[in-house]
Amino acid sequence: HPSSAKLLVLSSISGGGLVAYADLPSDKEKPSLALEHEGTRKKRVLVLGTGWAGISFLKDLDISSYDVQVVSPRNYFAFTPLLPSVTCGTVEARSIVEPVRNIVKKRNGEVKFWEAECLKVDAVNKEVICRSYVNENLPGKNDFSLEYDYLVVAVGAQVNTFNTPGVSENCYFLKEVEDAQSIRRAVIDCFEKAVLPELTEEERRINLHFVIVGGGPTGVEFAAELHDFVHEDLVKIYPSVKDLVAISLIQSGDHILNTYDERISSFAEQKFQRDGIEVLTGHRVLSVSDRLIDVKAKSTGENVSIPHGMVVWSTGVGTRPVVKDFMEQIGQGNRKVLATDEWLRVKGCDDVYGLGDCTTVDQKKIMEDISAIFKAADKDNSGTLTIEEFKDVIEDVTIRYPQVELFLQNNHLSDITDLLKGVDGNEREEVDIEEFKLALANVDKQTKSLPATAQVAAQQGAYLARCFNMREKCKAEPEGPRKFRSGGRHEFRPFRYRHLGQFAPLGGEQAAAELPGDWVSVGHSTQWLWYSIYASKQVSWRTRYLVVGDWTRRFVFGRDSSRI
Ligand code: FAD
Repeated sequence: HPSSAKLLVLSSISGGGLVAYADLPSDKEKPSLALEHEGTRKKRVLVLGTGWAGISFLKDLDISSYDVQVVSPRNYFAFTPLLPSVTCGTVEARSIVEPVRNIVKKRNGEVKFWEAECLKVDAVNKEVICRSYVNENLPGKNDFSLEYDYLVVAVGAQVNTFNTPGVSENCYFLKEVEDAQSIRRAVIDCFEKAVLPELTEEERRINLHFVIVGGGPTGVEFAAELHDFVHEDLVKIYPSVKDLVAISLIQSGDHILNTYDERISSFAEQKFQRDGIEVLTGHRVLSVSDRLIDVKAKSTGENVSIPHGMVVWSTGVGTRPVVKDFMEQIGQGNRKVLATDEWLRVKGCDDVYGLGDCTTVDQKKIMEDISAIFKAADKDNSGTLTIEEFKDVIEDVTIRYPQVELFLQNNHLSDITDLLKGVDGNEREEVDIEEFKLALANVDKQTKSLPATAQVAAQQGAYLARCFNMREKCKAEPEGPRKFRSGGRHEFRPFRYRHLGQFAPLGGEQAAAELPGDWVSVGHSTQWLWYSIYASKQVSWRTRYLVVGDWTRRFVFGRDSSRI
């Protein structure tokens, strides 16, 4: 059996996209001789991941221009915003997934999909090592290597336990479809255990204490779903224990939904209070055992042990090992998340792009760039800019850095306008750069990372696909800054995130929404808006039909409580 090193050798000899010793591509899959010839063959684009970012990239990419390969350990795309609904059977798991092969088959070219996990990115040799878990017949450790010309890293993130003792062993997570299915079974289990004979009331009560850690949108939505499931369906079939059920939500910050408008956050807190969901804000989890969760109140320093039936851990995300390893190789080892520039190119290595939850745009570099732009504009080193120069600089900065534009639009346009006005209210002739730095300090705060959301990931995927589709057209002008100040503006416009708003379903057919333009909407009508938007956002007509069917079934028959 050849070692993976031998496989790598084979791989470089072939010059083709894929070499797996025992699973050589069929003749149809082999690149033609003509294409194999360097220079005439299509460039190989390798996409890692079939989540929001990867699929959105693939859907918009002009497949006919590239030799496209996709690697992902799951052969489907999952509509993650509906995962909390899967935990309680409001929507079935199969209704929110679409096979990758279905999504890519309708394209004007072939996309090769390999169900495997990428273990290592070798940016120097431009190849990745992958491991298949489905084909037991592959030799060695089922490893194979793939070469690329362009690599798109869209592997998302993994759950983050913050190294809290006992969390990995004793908590449920809500990240993947399998997680949602496990939670659904565990909830029913807790009810079945609680009604067994010979238990004390206290034991029944403990079995029916559901604890959720994390007051972000996922934790809150799960708490709301669980509350509805329990009160609309389970209490009817487990009437003997209906008064013993308790749901607690633990949040380390001072409020739940603290990334939302505070009107939404307080609406959610009040609604949960009315629903009897206990919200413990300002509490940090110290450890979790199979029966107890130990928490510390931040204000008093008091430690409390809370008995539980099950705990769902939903406190943010961390970096996947394959990305960590890659970051170390390219000099980003001291960072938490893979940094890209604003064209989504991974910093520190060529031809690798990063999308979605596994990446962040390097903010420090952005601030350095902005300072450099001002310095370059101040040609006579006077420390001042004329109004015209100043306006020019602002325009360039906002074109390159959409976050700054968003910031200016949303909050501090007045800061800039004030700078342009003198004490008498008339426009000044010059603007002091030092004075501007004060405004810039505010911008600095605002240029924080984009949120790890499907919205960002999907927009990044679509943006990168557009850049790839234009690459041929722009060949005459090689990629890179062209006329940006001293160097020039980049061939493609930088990635610009358009925030389209966010929802928080709160149960009882009520939802909250934060819409562009500082609009906040809460209540039953917002829930209907949520239904229509989430139905329209489905990736295929098949899933749209299934999801709407599930919602209708739930309205008519309630949720299914079988433990399967
Ligand atoms: P993912 O969608 O996680 O995709 C990563 C892909 O990479 C997967 O296909 C995975 O199998 C694959 N992969 C993993 N490891 C490897 C490897 N080693 N090699 C190859 N492939 C690999 N966002 C919103 O905007 N709105 C919401 O309402 C919302 N609700 C959410 C609810 C839940 C329960 C969760 C968990 C998330 C929610 N999000 C929501 C966040 C959103 O799902 C993520 O931001 C989004 O999925 C990020 O997209 P991504 O493509 O970066 O990663």
